[in-house]
Amino acid sequence: MTRPSQNVASPHFADELPSLVAGAGDTRLGVGLMRSYGDSNLNPDGSVIRMTGLDRIHHFDPASHVLRADAGLSLDSLIRTVLPHGLFPAVVPGTRFVTLGGAVGNDIHGKNHHRFGTFGNHVRRLSLMRSDGRRIELGPDDESGLFAATIGGLGLTGLIEWVEIALRAIPGAMIDAETIPFESLEEFFALADESITTHEHTVSWIDCTRIDGTKMRGLFMRGNCSADPDRPPHAARPRLGMPLELPRFALNPLTLSLFNEAYYRFGRLRAGRSKVHYAPFFFPLDGIMHWNRLYGRDGMFQYQCVVPPGASLDATAELLKIIAASGEGSFLAVLKTFGSNASPGLLSFPREGTTLALDFRNRGPQTLELLARLDAVVFEADGRLYPAKDGRMSARMFQSGYPRLEAFTAHVDPHFSSAFWRRVAP
Ligand SMILES: Cc1cc2nc3c(=O)[nH]c(=O)nc-3n(C[C@H](O)[C@H](O)[C@H](O)COP(=O)(O)OP(=O)(O)OC[C@H]3O[C@@H](n4cnc5c(N)ncnc54)[C@H](O)[C@@H]3O)c2cc1C
Repeated sequence: MTRPSQNVASPHFADELPSLVAGAGDTRLGVGLMRSYGDSNLNPDGSVIRMTGLDRIHHFDPASHVLRADAGLSLDSLIRTVLPHGLFPAVVPGTRFVTLGGAVGNDIHGKNHHRFGTFGNHVRRLSLMRSDGRRIELGPDDESGLFAATIGGLGLTGLIEWVEIALRAIPGAMIDAETIPFESLEEFFALADESITTHEHTVSWIDCTRIDGTKMRGLFMRGNCSADPDRPPHAARPRLGMPLELPRFALNPLTLSLFNEAYYRFGRLRAGRSKVHYAPFFFPLDGIMHWNRLYGRDGMFQYQCVVPPGASLDATAELLKIIAASGEGSFLAVLKTFGSNASPGLLSFPREGTTLALDFRNRGPQTLELLARLDAVVFEADGRLYPAKDGRMSARMFQSGYPRLEAFTAHVDPHFSSAFWRRVAP
């Protein structure tokens, strides 16, 4: 997707913020590292306030596990600071290059949703700046609904200035991991059910090019924190990189199928138990700089949906059938179950059920048509799409997936907006 131009303010000091936030005029939007895939962090008719220059830690108490920092602090930096004290964020997404503000704005989830819920479940306080000049401190005890609207609120309730989170204690930096190959969706669900009680982290890679009914190939990965007390932090820089965008012809059904075949065989060979560092376990793509160049100049679409437990088997089978028949699909298709923990945000994406996430190379109208067919399955199953991964869902799709939208809308700051919001707002 081509990103339209927009005005960008990059403050470095907290006293620059009031004049950027308050007042009428063009709409504004707080953003972080801009790692969301679609248009929820874009505001082409107005401006964005890029918070990455504000990344100071205000307070860190290793004894109580509490850290308060500017919203622009990245999880990359935060982990480096807290790991030596045997602490870690309770929830991390598939990349550490996200800010605290972005983690709150999308109420991100990780591989341990069934144990730790979402990022927002661990937010103790935050400071929100509104366009009317107010600076409001909020926490889970807020009865106005503004805290619940801000968690997963896509930046629309105002600018998050700082965030205070509760960290979790960990013995060290290693994960006791296990990879189990599976050959059907039924096997996947059995592994997921069994692992909920035995493992903190679960996630699966699936081969979306070879689907026959519920027969498919995948690698189920699960893990727990290892008792190993070593705490080496992650490498400062990725070891690999994509130097160039691949030409259009390089990514086709044949290369996709060959890649998936090789990935599955390699995974099978390495199946079983191993001790791995948290970085490749939690953040595999962070090890390859500019991995998105794989999709060539036209870029790609991410697609992530969740469908409720009752519809999980049939809807997931139908989605995979459509994807396999299209010959499209991705190198890294991820299937995972979310637990029953209630999400704290009015617009939080995670809900109990099964989530499928994958990339599609942008081939123009044919890709959009494919995604619309997937939407129809998710809609019928009473599921929802993840705004952080979206640049094209319809207003109908958004509104049907988020039943607390009306309550949320009451808290939107009238001078904050985004391209995403203008497309989907009621
Ligand atoms: C490789 C990769 C893997 C990923 N894996 C996962 C995953 O496993 N789970 C998951 O949940 N997500 C995942 N994501 C998505 C990512 O975690 C989210 O998009 C996250 O919100 C990005 O953070 P950011 O700092 O880049 O925020 P941005 O993309 O800049 O912004 C995200 C949203 O937060 C708002 N926002 C940001 N900062 C502020 C602020 N200071 N005040 C108010 N609003 C603000 C923005 O307006 C926007 O709506 C992944 C992304 C990538 C690229």
